[in-house]
Amino acid sequence: MSSWNDIVSGTRYSFKALGDLFFPRRCAVCEAILTCDEQNICNDCHTDIPYTRFWSWPENPAEERMWSKVGIESAVSLFFYRYTGSYGHILHKFKYGCNIPLGIEVGRDLGKKMALGGRFGDIDAIVPVPLHWRRQWSRGFNQAEIISRGVAEGFASQPEGKSITVIRSLVKRTKKTATQTRLSGKEKVENVKNAFHVNQKVASRLLSKGINHILLVDDVLTSGSTLAACATPLMKYFRVSVATIGFVE
Ligand SMILES: [Zn+2]
Repeated sequence: MSSWNDIVSGTRYSFKALGDLFFPRRCAVCEAILTCDEQNICNDCHTDIPYTRFWSWPENPAEERMWSKVGIESAVSLFFYRYTGSYGHILHKFKYGCNIPLGIEVGRDLGKKMALGGRFGDIDAIVPVPLHWRRQWSRGFNQAEIISRGVAEGFASQPEGKSITVIRSLVKRTKKTATQTRLSGKEKVENVKNAFHVNQKVASRLLSKGINHILLVDDVLTSGSTLAACATPLMKYFRVSVATIGFVE
């Protein structure tokens, strides 16, 4: 005899199948129609994701890039990101197409790999790089926050992992900065200088709870200027590591 839960989950599955029939969901990378079991990326594209393997690679290229700017602990990115490559669609569709489940899915993938890689076992809390309130208001969400939620879920889902809280009240972006894309290296550093402010009260409360190592999360690691500008005031209180979905070579 089927239990109530089986009936409910069976019904949900049928609704999903019915929805897929009329409004087929498509793979964020290759646009192929997804099967009911596939979430946002088809199995073929998932197998071919250009993973960095930085989670089990000490002194990886993300760390070398960050260390040239600021003395963080470790850094990790999920995949090699090219603006024009098909895997670039993942971040584009998530960020500008408001595909939140896609953002959670890639965040979860990163969190799982970090837990399995064993280099991030002493992370105490996750902090998303904040957007200026006006940009967040116009976009409707902060992409780093969605990824952070996924990373926390992925971390907690592994036997090697643990439950880690996402903290949003620790850092504020007090300066509305121009988009970094078209700026030179020097301009990027100037643009984000002093853009972030740490709430001292929140910092002291976290320290008193034994939170010492923060994982700072953003969508892409390009020059590292934004992450360095955000990590710098945090490092007066905490050890800081960095995690992103994309790594621009
Ligand atoms: Zn695909």
